Amino acid sequence: MANISFNSVSKKYGKNITAVSDISFEIKPGELLILCGPSGCGKSTVLRMLAGLEDISSGEVRIDDVVINQVAPKDRDIAMVFQNYAIYPHMTVFDNIAFSLKLRKVSKDEIRNRVERTAETLGLKHLLDRKPKTLSGGQRQRIAMGRAIVREPAIYLFDEPLSNLDAKMRTELRKEILQIHNDFDSTMVYVTHDQIEAMTLGDRICVMNEGVIEQIDPPHQIFDYPKTLFVAQFIGTPPMNTFKGKILLKNNQVLFSSNSVKCSLNEEKTDMLRNHIKKEVYLGIRPSHLSIAEDHEINIIEGSLEVSEMLGDEVLIHAKSEDGSFCCKVDPQKINNLNNNLLRFSINIPKAHIFDAASGENLTIPNNI
Ligand code: ADP
Repeated sequence: MANISFNSVSKKYGKNITAVSDISFEIKPGELLILCGPSGCGKSTVLRMLAGLEDISSGEVRIDDVVINQVAPKDRDIAMVFQNYAIYPHMTVFDNIAFSLKLRKVSKDEIRNRVERTAETLGLKHLLDRKPKTLSGGQRQRIAMGRAIVREPAIYLFDEPLSNLDAKMRTELRKEILQIHNDFDSTMVYVTHDQIEAMTLGDRICVMNEGVIEQIDPPHQIFDYPKTLFVAQFIGTPPMNTFKGKILLKNNQVLFSSNSVKCSLNEEKTDMLRNHIKKEVYLGIRPSHLSIAEDHEINIIEGSLEVSEMLGDEVLIHAKSEDGSFCCKVDPQKINNLNNNLLRFSINIPKAHIFDAASGENLTIPNNI
């Protein structure tokens, strides 16, 4: 199991494009780290620098404490799986998987053993004599994974490996990647812009934005305690609702006030926000932390119904407030009638976040997180 570290690493293309800007982080041995963020944020560049497919402009990358900036890709003990399968169409499944072992002059018996074991793991054993063009997209991506696994590398790199597959196949292969991760104990770095993949696969998620790291934490922590407004809005579907307003102090209690929301924050948040009175902030609340309000509730948002979407076990209500549109996720059984155009939603205050409008920093992360 390999340990990977990036120390103040930057990547520039020419003089003007900074793809990655002074990033430092560590990937623990056996960890599956997800790199995610919007298109162009630098995640593939990070992966390609690790693989040796891209020069490092400044800083150091280490594998097991050895600086690898100048080490050739073939000497890094890394296997990479791409979005576009990268398999040889004229070779059988067996020969595709065996290819790298043949290059290394591994004995015939050992090649057969290792290819068969790999094919077994990936459910390809009955297809070993077939050519890739007769197989489905999911099966082809399994061959590409087989080519990586058979080498038993110290590190696996995945660059959006599932993005060409349909939803059902993606779910199946996600399960298999997790299985491989559990069986082989290898260190894995996985690039995706799909946050469901990020949430379900990662031991930790590294969220990138414009060449820098916004947050690296386990999935539940990223979801429950996003450090920045960017992370809050990037992770979660539908995204977190945000309302721009001000922090006020009244009768020793901190309030959030915007055009459509007036709410008093709980004691914990009051303590955290005492030094931010009158500051411009965003209140952030996830759609699942809003509910249809009872008459007596006071921490509410009012909005007029735009549309509602029935998703089976939940309903998404899209509403419009004076601060803009927002969304609420509710239990279908809790909705009696949505004909009433003006709706009142109750805010689950302990679950709400307050972000500094200028810096985007989350001001309400508890100290023990
Ligand atoms: P992501 O994988 O997050 O979509 P990339 O790492 O591919 O992002 O790209 C990061 C930035 O670097 C983007 O602005 C992209 O346009 C730029 N970039 C990537 N490769 C090159 C290249 N070969 N030449 C110039 N600019 C590049």
